[in-house]
Amino acid sequence: MADRHAELLSGLGFSQGLWIEGRYRAGGAETIQVANPATGAAIAQAQLAGEADFRLALDGAHQAFGRWRSEPNAARGEVLKRAAALMAARRQELAELLTREQGKPISQALAEVDYAASFFQWFGEEARRLSGRLQPHPQRGREYRVRPVPVGVAGLVTPWNFPLAQGAKKVAAALAAGCTAVWKPSEFTPLVALVMGPLLKAAGLPDGVLQILPARGPVAGAAFTSDPRVRCISLTGSTNTGRALMEGAARHLQRVSFELGGNAPFIILPDANLDAVAADLVTLKLLCAGQVCVTANRVFVPAALEEPLLKRLLPLWHALRVGDGLAEGTVVGPLIHAQARGRVRGLVRQALDAGAELVSENRCHEGNPALAAGSFFPPTILGGVRDEMPIAREEIFGPVMALLSYGDVPEAVRRANSTPFGLAGYVYGRDLSLANAVADELEVGIVGVNEWRPLRAEIPFGGVKYSGLGREGGEEGIREFCDMKVVATPTPSLGGL
Ligand code: NAD
Repeated sequence: MADRHAELLSGLGFSQGLWIEGRYRAGGAETIQVANPATGAAIAQAQLAGEADFRLALDGAHQAFGRWRSEPNAARGEVLKRAAALMAARRQELAELLTREQGKPISQALAEVDYAASFFQWFGEEARRLSGRLQPHPQRGREYRVRPVPVGVAGLVTPWNFPLAQGAKKVAAALAAGCTAVWKPSEFTPLVALVMGPLLKAAGLPDGVLQILPARGPVAGAAFTSDPRVRCISLTGSTNTGRALMEGAARHLQRVSFELGGNAPFIILPDANLDAVAADLVTLKLLCAGQVCVTANRVFVPAALEEPLLKRLLPLWHALRVGDGLAEGTVVGPLIHAQARGRVRGLVRQALDAGAELVSENRCHEGNPALAAGSFFPPTILGGVRDEMPIAREEIFGPVMALLSYGDVPEAVRRANSTPFGLAGYVYGRDLSLANAVADELEVGIVGVNEWRPLRAEIPFGGVKYSGLGREGGEEGIREFCDMKVVATPTPSLGGL
């Protein structure tokens, strides 16, 4: 097993160090052991960057900025599209590394590699379309040239749940815009980020344009917010981390772009097709073992439909295979670490103490000695959850389906919106005019109507309220890394000719 980790990593060009100016350099404030969350087995060691490493990386990114920004947009785009092609070619190895490091089932890891590559492809294409405009001037013989220019060096911070895709969204958009960047992946999933260094180099990315430095969060936060050369900080993470970075960014007035936590409502309307609801809900809820910012955190069910819904959910729930993501047929992997499991356990316990009902648990992984050291939590369905319970107020971030019953549709909408978060929402119903009216009322950035995964590279994604600022993907994603520059100038003319 240890040999397979080593084989995978060396096949992907990895060697110890931080990715700075186009190569792995020794450094690091500390060395950590990266473990497989399904088995607890060590995969590899990784170095975490300290203050001096960030200074070096930011120097490199600053120096590379002038050259990279003056590359033709199409040339920058070509590098990104080649990176997408290389990811497709290395799909299997990247996915296997992702499963070993993050724990998600291999089928989901393969889908994440494809999703990540789609951002390199999309922003590779968008780079060519990044255009400005000529604006009429009130004076004769003059005009305004309005065009997007890259903001400068970007600091990118990503979490561990979709370590490749969250990184790809930011890296591809920043580089397409003409920014250079320092990417700080999560300390829990450093490897799959670090192997992107050689891959991007092979795609033709010049040295220094992107540095990859796994680190403790506050070390990266201090490095980015204390350096005035960093002009944009883009984070995907928790709302509290967003707050900390925003406070720090005030000092040098750095632009911030945040994808933060959610508390997505999933509203089942009285006329919904319950077979489709059950199938989609189980898939959505158990993606990445529930550790997804857009997952269904609160499932609103009309009181009269609770029994028929459970009748459909339970067989699907009991059929789920929980285990090592590399094992054939696994649908639910472990949580990222034991601390995450303890947190989910606490939320469930509090809910049960407050009167929620334990409807179902799937403990099929128990008794397998190979998984004894893994951080598994049994997929659980809770009925009778009420709005005031912590499990309905916080992100569960685990494989727990919380069912809340409601009386009428306006009540469901009011309760769905009674949260400071506003990332995603879901509405399932046959009457599309009602379903769309409900979707329009939800205070969120993205809604799936009879659709459990409305996210794509070509669609802007982001939250409202405490769930974030700015957008990733779509035409909008690249603009997060651009300023609009205006030149007021005489209109070219033939002069005296
Ligand atoms: P987290 O905020 O603890 O960590 C996210 C990243 O921020 C990590 O790389 C971490 O090291 C870093 N970090 C932590 N403190 C920092 C600081 N002071 N300065 C700079 N960086 C810091 O979140 P997490 O627990 O790793 O991830 C789960 C959270 O991310 C959940 O709240 C989830 O909803 C959110 N998330 C949001 C989206 C989205 O697109 N909206 C996607 C995935 C995850």
